Amino acid sequence: MQDCTTPACRSARSIFLELQECYEEDNLYFQTIGSVLEAADKLAVPHRLKLILSQPKNEIMVHCPVQMDDGSWQLFKGYRVQHNNVLGPYKGGIRYHHEVKLDEVKTLSLLMTMKCALARLPFGGAKGALKVDPRTLSADELMRVTRRMTAALGTNIGPDYDIPAPDVGTDARVMAWMADTYINFAESSSKVTARGVVTGKPLRFGGSAGREKATGQGLVYVLETLLPGMGLQIDQLSFSLIGYGNVGSWTARLLQPLGATLRTVMDHTGAIHNPKGIDAETLAEYVTQTGGVAGYPHAEAIDRETFYATEVDLFIPAALEQMVDLPEARTMRCKVLVEAANAPTTPKAERHLLEKGVEVLPAILCNAGGVTVSYFEWKQNRQSETWDPDEVDARLRTIMSRSAERVLQTAERLDCNLRIASYAAAIEHINHVYEVRGVFP
Ligand code: GLU
Repeated sequence: MQDCTTPACRSARSIFLELQECYEEDNLYFQTIGSVLEAADKLAVPHRLKLILSQPKNEIMVHCPVQMDDGSWQLFKGYRVQHNNVLGPYKGGIRYHHEVKLDEVKTLSLLMTMKCALARLPFGGAKGALKVDPRTLSADELMRVTRRMTAALGTNIGPDYDIPAPDVGTDARVMAWMADTYINFAESSSKVTARGVVTGKPLRFGGSAGREKATGQGLVYVLETLLPGMGLQIDQLSFSLIGYGNVGSWTARLLQPLGATLRTVMDHTGAIHNPKGIDAETLAEYVTQTGGVAGYPHAEAIDRETFYATEVDLFIPAALEQMVDLPEARTMRCKVLVEAANAPTTPKAERHLLEKGVEVLPAILCNAGGVTVSYFEWKQNRQSETWDPDEVDARLRTIMSRSAERVLQTAERLDCNLRIASYAAAIEHINHVYEVRGVFP
């Protein structure tokens, strides 16, 4: 391993030496745990907490044979990584992506632990994935593979134990199949509460109002709380987006009525630009029909380099991890980087942006709206209640703005950047709970 030049790298390396684990500096898990441990080092937390957080509690891997429509068979690899459950049941999305790896799922599970703790939700952290490109499957194949994976996970998931939700490549339809499969296996005495095994379900099958837009809505509440203190007004802002899926498109559709202007968008099909603004609603309809932003008629096509270099107030990555690395950060001209995706910024890129005076709003704060409304859904399922959309929004606003304030106060108290502060605020809460519960046995 190369020599460490940053506190995050030093903290991660010393723990990994102790655990006899080896990671490269550019590895996503190493980078993420490094920042978490740097935050822990700012607090007087016991060493055992750092050890506990450094590895997930359980890493489950399943292989699912499924027959395709043409009669052939395929074997799909599935993961569920349960990072920590000291605050409550494991919680986190399940993604379908053809390039997914165990280290990525581990990283995302760690981020879920931090995210739920920062928002003070009664959940731990987990993440799941299926190695598949869902766009290559028919609806029937998607259903069969989803049901087979759910059955393979068996009692490793459950409404009181581990609660999956949508993530990249999955949606309410996939959650409905997961819930239905789980209910079929549930004891007759627990069938009513069994649908709480997943959140992000369709509205008519125990879903919550506001869950589909929740991540975008939560992000808007964070911006409303933090931007005025940075001297920025939403109605005068321009923004760029990476990704126009659930999170990206809802963010744009919710920022637009507040007066902000979408300038550029990039996704897996290409990048587009319109200096006068791109209509978020029309683009959302176009992407639903075509599968991507390329060819959108009311904007010009631009290349990747131009996309990153376009001057905007807010740069919002809302797709996969590590989309903003040092070469991109060097060309970026924005005031605030808003992490709507999980782990979109590499540590080198973040250091460069901070040195340039760019504010970086961390993912575990910005995108916690999704899991927060998942919590509302789980709560409604347990109580057989249905909350109206205004009630969901009001409760979400309270949790998001409190979390944002918590991060600001922690940054001031510990004299650190907002990412380290967000992890520190999460770790403080986890530490208090370990203090009262103790560590078994
Ligand atoms: N997949 C979302 C996330 O990364 C939501 C998780 C959930 O609702 O449990 O935060």
